[in-house]
Amino acid sequence: MTASLDTSSTRAVSRRIAAVTESATLAIDARAKALRAAGEDVISFGAGEPDFPTPEPIVEAAVAACRDPRNHRYTPTAGLPELRAAIATKTARDSGLAVEAAQVLVTNGAKHAVFQAFATLLDPGDEVLVMAPYWTTYPEAIALAGGVPVAVGADESTGFRVGVDELDAACTPRTKVLLFVSPSNPTGAVYPAQEIEAIGGWAAERGLWVVTDEIYEHLVYGGRTHHSLPVLAPDVAERCVVINGVAKTYAMTGWRVGWLIGPDDIVKAATNLQSHATSNVSNIAQAAAVAAVRGDLSAAAEMREAFDRRRRTMVRMLRETTGVECPEPLGAFYCFPSVKGALGRTIRGRTPQSSAELAELVLDEAEVAVVPGEAFGAPGYFRLSYALGDDDLVEGVTRLQKLLAEAT
Ligand code: PMP
Repeated sequence: MTASLDTSSTRAVSRRIAAVTESATLAIDARAKALRAAGEDVISFGAGEPDFPTPEPIVEAAVAACRDPRNHRYTPTAGLPELRAAIATKTARDSGLAVEAAQVLVTNGAKHAVFQAFATLLDPGDEVLVMAPYWTTYPEAIALAGGVPVAVGADESTGFRVGVDELDAACTPRTKVLLFVSPSNPTGAVYPAQEIEAIGGWAAERGLWVVTDEIYEHLVYGGRTHHSLPVLAPDVAERCVVINGVAKTYAMTGWRVGWLIGPDDIVKAATNLQSHATSNVSNIAQAAAVAAVRGDLSAAAEMREAFDRRRRTMVRMLRETTGVECPEPLGAFYCFPSVKGALGRTIRGRTPQSSAELAELVLDEAEVAVVPGEAFGAPGYFRLSYALGDDDLVEGVTRLQKLLAEAT
């Protein structure tokens, strides 16, 4: 007798999970990689990851950790004690925020920290103010936790930055959390100190919690500085959860180490959740992260220089592209140009009406992968990552330029 998987409707996926949409950014990247594997010459601006290898001393620390049998066992759920202590020290060094090691929970990447934070903070129906355009994972993580994401939009006229007035207008008695992100994925917006102070002060007055995602803290350009919200708005620090990780600063996306920092009771509760979901993060990856956060920021500074060069090249080239308008991104590694001027025009017999349709056309005809703004709650835009090699970057944008120049 053979067993078979039951695919009948009585076995269908739960409503909660069926409502989750695939990550558009990972889907675009997977499609580009599949085309490349099939021999197509695709250039992908889709992925949100540095193209550099992880710096050698970090890799060496992981190699040594592999040979230490202590790392072959389960370790504390909240993270290796030396990593939690190193993260606390690094947070004081980079942000000026004083925290105890006990306030740090090490997670499987910052994405997992986002998930844990909302799972721990939200009851069904609690609303979360999410600044739009937003990173595609946020609304899903909020909804999975039973919360309701409430988008508060900004566009290029304000540098994609949301002000207190817009936040206040969207705040209701059900609002529990403000999600604050600077530098922003996808827009590259970086909030100046006085705006962070105002937003943090407003959240404190309103009695809200703040989840602040600082994963791009070291990737700011044009003389801008990153500021940590709980440092500038100490009144809300007691109700603040800081999210960060090693992925972007140290070119470690594949190692899967992130963390959240928060008040003791939140960290304890999130640790309980993690103890049943994933246990501890891989010890080998944690040992690598210890080397990363204890080390200096020289490798990060070199990578930032390369990103800055690519950023300037991409902005210049996009500004020379038909139908495209590109504001200057000041952080992270993305351009977020408007492509509204290219919609409703005919290119090779197709007339895309939306940025999603235009992205399809660009992939089919120019073999260039971009993420359409629909994925970030902002139709009419493209997100292009400039975390790829200089030559590929120039070739990819040149293809885009040539294709869009055909628009009639
Ligand atoms: N926050 C933001 C804003 C991001 O862009 C990303 C990665 N795309 C993450 C968090 C997640 O990073 P990690 O790889 O550590 O899960």
